[in-house]
Amino acid sequence: MNRELRKTVIAGNWKMNKLASEIKAFSDELMPLIPGYKGWCDAVVCTPFVILPAALCAFKDTGVGVGAQNMSQHESGAYTGEVSAAQLTDIGTQYVIIGHSERRQYYGETDETVNAKTIAALKTPMTPIVCVGETLEQREKGITNSLVTMQVEVALSGISAEQASKIIIAYEPVWAIGTGKTATPEDAQEVCKVIRDVLKTLYCEKTANAITIQYGGSMNDKNAKELLAQPDIDGGLIGGASLKPDQFAVIINAANQ
Ligand code: PEP
Repeated sequence: MNRELRKTVIAGNWKMNKLASEIKAFSDELMPLIPGYKGWCDAVVCTPFVILPAALCAFKDTGVGVGAQNMSQHESGAYTGEVSAAQLTDIGTQYVIIGHSERRQYYGETDETVNAKTIAALKTPMTPIVCVGETLEQREKGITNSLVTMQVEVALSGISAEQASKIIIAYEPVWAIGTGKTATPEDAQEVCKVIRDVLKTLYCEKTANAITIQYGGSMNDKNAKELLAQPDIDGGLIGGASLKPDQFAVIINAANQ
């Protein structure tokens, strides 16, 4: 872990789970379990749009951040069903996940839309969590590193070093998301290092060393410590295990050691 270089961020992705009426109980259970976390690790929960206000209320003054799971690349206008970056920041949302593999897989998001959304998010105070990662087929073909390199290059196209330093990149091998199959710490580290090297080429060593790179894919209370001990893994994007306060707390505490 590189606390002297960059922020460690543990972000929960609740996906399409939980009701507004359940969030207060979640925060009441979580907060006593993470008494020391207000150190250098940021903890975040990314919730469905409609329950963001309840999450912002329940986590007010706790130090736990609140994020969305998607946003429109458009500023405003005739985009029925979409939510803009300005609408998210207006209610106090601090983070937004962009290009999650489920968005890419089920809703046709591409590296180009990820780039457009990232640029739109950077016009606001929100921190974009930009997701990249290979499918099992791509891994088996041996193209993981080149694919992830291309995803990062396109996602950051037209983004300055100063803007890039506000972004979090989440490396999420698609085959590890929600499957219980975690990348080994060595494999996850290898790809996160590739991402760091891409950032060095796109920008400079200083900028690359300041950017938080998360691992995501079945991270849980059992494997978090080992994954977070890797030099280029600066946090986690966590699905299933973030729904349970006790498990999420173990991961946050592992990041805080
Ligand atoms: C995710 O949703 O980004 C994720 C990593 O899910 P899980 O932890 O359940 O694999």
